[in-house]
Amino acid sequence: MREAYDCIVLGGGPAGTAAAALVAEAGHATLLVEREKTPRFHVGESLMPETYWTFERLGILDELKSSRFTRKLSVQFVNARGKASKPFYFHEHDGRDCSQTWQVRRSEFDRLLWDNAAAKGADCYDQTRVIDVALEGDRATGVTLTTADGETRQVAARVVIDASGQQSLIANRLNLLRPNPRLRKSAIWTYYRGAERAEGIDGGATVILHTEDKENWFWYIPLHDDVTSVGLVGDVDRLFASREPPAQVFQTQLARCQNLEARLADAERVDDFHVAREFSYKAERAAGDGWVLIGDAYGFIDPIYSSGVFFALKTAEMAADCVIDALAADDVSATRLGAWAAEFDRGANLVRKLIAAFYTKEFSFGEFLAQHPEHVGNMTDLLIGRIFYDGAERIFEDMDPYIANLTGTAAPLAADR
Ligand SMILES: Cc1cc2nc3c(=O)[nH]c(=O)nc-3n(C[C@H](O)[C@H](O)[C@H](O)COP(=O)(O)OP(=O)(O)OC[C@H]3O[C@@H](n4cnc5c(N)ncnc54)[C@H](O)[C@@H]3O)c2cc1C
Repeated sequence: MREAYDCIVLGGGPAGTAAAALVAEAGHATLLVEREKTPRFHVGESLMPETYWTFERLGILDELKSSRFTRKLSVQFVNARGKASKPFYFHEHDGRDCSQTWQVRRSEFDRLLWDNAAAKGADCYDQTRVIDVALEGDRATGVTLTTADGETRQVAARVVIDASGQQSLIANRLNLLRPNPRLRKSAIWTYYRGAERAEGIDGGATVILHTEDKENWFWYIPLHDDVTSVGLVGDVDRLFASREPPAQVFQTQLARCQNLEARLADAERVDDFHVAREFSYKAERAAGDGWVLIGDAYGFIDPIYSSGVFFALKTAEMAADCVIDALAADDVSATRLGAWAAEFDRGANLVRKLIAAFYTKEFSFGEFLAQHPEHVGNMTDLLIGRIFYDGAERIFEDMDPYIANLTGTAAPLAADR
């Protein structure tokens, strides 16, 4: 490890690994650090088709195509009465290769991205924890970290990219995180072997199933080796009101989702229950002098549409271009480093609105699209992540009146504490 780099990237998830690969590939001395030993476990297994373009740019499409990851060709919704929608087949919307994506075991997927960053020239160190970001006022100048050997080191950088996920080191330090008070959700999830698999092209679909009271929903994500990821999402207060352990809460809600119970009838649970609490928030700004936030470190909305990894890769790509540009111009100001954020926010806000629609109990996508068949294409665009073009917002001219005001943000986290 050198004493100084052009760019230090904090966090070895999809955002950090993608950004490190691109900045290193452009010829800048780049350090990527991850606190855990890789490969490491992580939630977030279902990808959106529009990740394709970042994979293409990173040069890992062939590896993904020849991988063991399950191919995901559609997404399907099961309503509170147990009735399944017709699957949204991505290829019906766009016949190209980019309509196929994958359900990934994140330990393997993130490791692939990690190896790619190393191959592109980034210095990659796992078991290396950033314990402090050096800030002179608002300006980042480097980090203090502990290495795998337990040594504490200071490393200087012209730019620090914070991709530390929900730790969001810089935004927490500067009190920039704003939670969404109307999306106080939690998740409980686990893994099954031998769960039902549809035949043919439906075998890799993500299925989203409502519980019978429409209060909560489950994800059903078929992974390789006959393992299926099954997760419950609901309001944090309601889900844990009984103070029962997560396993019990999960089982109680499973009994309220007969379609899912049937899928799991012959399955064996092969992992413990995992819990994530209150995960919807956004940082007030994406960059300062010498630093930029990407992926979950910048914000996270809700897992319903599997947008997290796509947003991580997209922000990595957009921010990396700004970092490369800033380093070349020798101007690492907030303005240059955050120049991508307005365009990203515009697109991400459309997914936020779609989330609001999903959580509006009276709203039905099926009924809405039956009334407005002209929006089916626009809707599919949003579901695949094609959100960065003029007109991607058109569906909301008709959907807005139905949506409860779930898109706002609250007072600073620290002020709440
Ligand atoms: C319940 C739930 C379900 C989800 N389901 C999906 C899904 O199906 N599909 C989808 O696309 N997304 C999903 N997501 C979202 C997805 O998990 C994230 O959006 C995605 O992992 C973000 O990637 P990232 O690289 O920004 O952060 P991460 O993947 O979290 O990576 C950040 C890394 O930074 C490291 N780090 C943290 N602090 C330090 C430090 N001090 N020093 C060094 N390293 C550090 C962490 O160890 C971690 O490896 C889900 C999220 C939740 C909560």
